[in-house]
Amino acid sequence: MKKTIRDFELTGKKVIIRCDFNVPLKDGKITDDNRIVESLKTINYALENGAKVVLMSHLGRVKSVEDKRKNSLKVVAERLGELLNKEVIFIPETRGNKLEEAISELNNGDVLLVENTRFEDLPNKLESGNDLGLATYWAKLGDIYINDAFGTCHRAHASNVGIASLIPSGIGFLVEKEIQMIGDVIANPDRPLTVILGGAKVSDKIGVIKNLVNVADYILIGGGMAFSFLNARGLEVGKSIVDEASLEFCKEILTNYPNKVILPVDVVCGKEVNEMAKATTKLINDMGTADIGLDIGPKTVLHFLQYLNKSNTVIWNGPVGVFEINQFSSGTKALANILANLDITTIIGGGDTAAAVINMGYKEAFTHISTGGGASLEMLEGVTLPGIEAITNR
Ligand code: ADP
Ligand code: MG
Repeated sequence: MKKTIRDFELTGKKVIIRCDFNVPLKDGKITDDNRIVESLKTINYALENGAKVVLMSHLGRVKSVEDKRKNSLKVVAERLGELLNKEVIFIPETRGNKLEEAISELNNGDVLLVENTRFEDLPNKLESGNDLGLATYWAKLGDIYINDAFGTCHRAHASNVGIASLIPSGIGFLVEKEIQMIGDVIANPDRPLTVILGGAKVSDKIGVIKNLVNVADYILIGGGMAFSFLNARGLEVGKSIVDEASLEFCKEILTNYPNKVILPVDVVCGKEVNEMAKATTKLINDMGTADIGLDIGPKTVLHFLQYLNKSNTVIWNGPVGVFEINQFSSGTKALANILANLDITTIIGGGDTAAAVINMGYKEAFTHISTGGGASLEMLEGVTLPGIEAITNR
């Protein structure tokens, strides 16, 4: 068990909180402030408990001087100030006298935001390379370190693993929720546990399949990866995406888990992958050499529904069709709608899947939608995330 922010006496302490303020920007303006809104719980907790709060975050990648100009956290400081309804002191530096003095002048309940941690990536990748000198410098700025940036927990950077290894540390409310909703559920699910897997390629998800096939009661496979499994079973899949290098893996999984791995029974095909494509629904045995399978069909949705109806927990990663194109989005929409209306634990992991269900209007309808794309996938793989591993144990 890792320490959480609740395990510390915060009054009068300089508390460094690593947030995920990696918000989308367009023409220098924030287009979606969700990540800032989500971080308020941990920040407010620290402020209410009398901490001197020092916030850190990355924003985009920094590979050039131009990236520095575009990716300043100044806009985040302004938006955060509005949301907190108090002044957020912004320091446009990642180190130096100005930063050190401003921190030493903080009163209990004050909040300061340090400039984009990845400014330290130019020229020498000190942040992304978890440079010990940089981590030591940042660690000296605080008494306690709290990691609340789940989206970077699968990376070992100076602003997470580096600082956490040097001073007493804990996780914030967001990271705690991700661990409870993904890690703990996989470790001890309310069964039956059904996993829906989709997305483009099998190769992206081999780690996830290997881990979850042992944990889940059923695995429902859709998306592009279904065609590698159908092909491994000897079916004609036309020009659907097939991962030749993963066919042996698919065969093994189908042989070892014949009653656990459930494949589509019908598919929506096109002859091309674009907005103009004509969609035709076919049974999987009827696919022709020119067909491209781009969504699961309605019979598959009903087939999957039988398993979903008897589940107590469902974890979903990977859209089951090319949902970006309207005529191939029905399967993903149907599953989102079914899950939203089931009174069971429903968990969404993966960046594209989360974006898809939120865009379809289901933000509040699931038990949990993970905020970390890559980090949630690694958690589904059963991998220990370095950003969490580095936190002080209870
Ligand atoms: P996540 O980010 O949630 O882990 P992935 O990145 O694995 O999800 O997969 C998302 C992509 O999978 C989408 O862009 C979608 O278009 C694609 N996809 C889904 N079904 C198919 C299919 N049948 N053929 C090709 N691509 C597909
Ligand atoms: Mg993705």
